[in-house]
Amino acid sequence: MPVALSPQISSEPPSDCHSVWRGATLVTMRDGHYNLIEDGAIAVTGSKIVWTGSAADCPDFPGAAVHEFEGGIITPGFVDCHTHLVFGGDRSEEFEQRLNGVSYADIAAAGGGILSTVNATREATEDELLAQALFRLQPLLAEGVTCVEIKSGYGLSIESELKMLRVIRRLGVMLQVEVKSTCLAAHALPPEFKGRTDEYIAMVCDTLLPVVASENLADAVDAFCEHLAFSPEQVERVFIAAQALGLPVKLHAEQLSSLHGSALAARYHALSADHLEYATAEDAQAMAASGTVAVLLPGAYYLLRETQCPPVDEFRKYNVPMALASDANPGTSPALSLRLMLNMGCTLFRLTPEEALAGITCHGARALGLQETHGTLEPGKVADFIHWPLSRPAELVYWLGGQLPCTVVFRGEVRGEFRL
Ligand SMILES: [Zn+2]
Repeated sequence: MPVALSPQISSEPPSDCHSVWRGATLVTMRDGHYNLIEDGAIAVTGSKIVWTGSAADCPDFPGAAVHEFEGGIITPGFVDCHTHLVFGGDRSEEFEQRLNGVSYADIAAAGGGILSTVNATREATEDELLAQALFRLQPLLAEGVTCVEIKSGYGLSIESELKMLRVIRRLGVMLQVEVKSTCLAAHALPPEFKGRTDEYIAMVCDTLLPVVASENLADAVDAFCEHLAFSPEQVERVFIAAQALGLPVKLHAEQLSSLHGSALAARYHALSADHLEYATAEDAQAMAASGTVAVLLPGAYYLLRETQCPPVDEFRKYNVPMALASDANPGTSPALSLRLMLNMGCTLFRLTPEEALAGITCHGARALGLQETHGTLEPGKVADFIHWPLSRPAELVYWLGGQLPCTVVFRGEVRGEFRL
């Protein structure tokens, strides 16, 4: 896989610096490893890191504010690279019905499942969708998420997909969090297109995506490649249309069966292929060759009580970067904690704590095309980082959820507490 060069640490100290953070161990995550710097320091100018190293070697920066921690660790800000946080309603009633013995078929016949989310999303105003998304983002931000990707895909009409994407853009302006927007119109077939899947795909490619691109409402385009959604051929049409508009692609692939969507994604140099429970060694090889990140989503695996694990050993063997994400969505992963996903990635998929942490920092950033600017503590990167009163990074993975106290720095400034 192509390896991006790490920014070089300059031997000359930067000429200006507005703040220095010191007194904690830096968990830099450089090259996907902890790469600890004991008793470290981070110097920040504007929104960028300009120097990292041992506090003892820290140059004197006249006039810089010095923030002294009494121990603990500093990690890069967390990146949740796969969510569906904007949607109308929720599916807790359906969750309860299923556990009371009501079948999927009966729930679907009564208008449940994804269609209920589509209906609720279509009916909601932009402001209503925004308020509901804020409620779901709050716990993610409180635990240190500084960058989040959010997909559309519950509108499934031109008007409602654009509405979702506008809400996603507004969240990025309103909140102290980097928001990447992904158009997932090829998520499911809307009921009015029943039996006319190719016509729906044509509408997405020929009408919706050009508007999305011209209004700059998305940073990437995603699709769901599965028997119950869209075929590899239909996905390929979406990829061709997206790339003609200059938009990078991603793919929900190999979640429930093997259609080699991940190899298709690799052919189109997708930023990521996501889920991947049924991916094969050949898929992993193709992803490695194209630099496509494997995004693992243990929340959906857990909630669906799946038994087929993604081929983590193959990803390791071929050096495919593995990211972890919440997949926060109303049906299969109502997950409001990315830190809980760290633990699930380790307990369910047998990742190491170091791999899991890389999955929500440097590899999560790569899955969004942000590897040059986010995901590690290195000079030249955006100054998004978190101080934790913990002794070692594995503790972030070890605790099962809960809100650990932390200080979040976003673009070089301490982020205030987020309140609705
Ligand atoms: Zn998803």
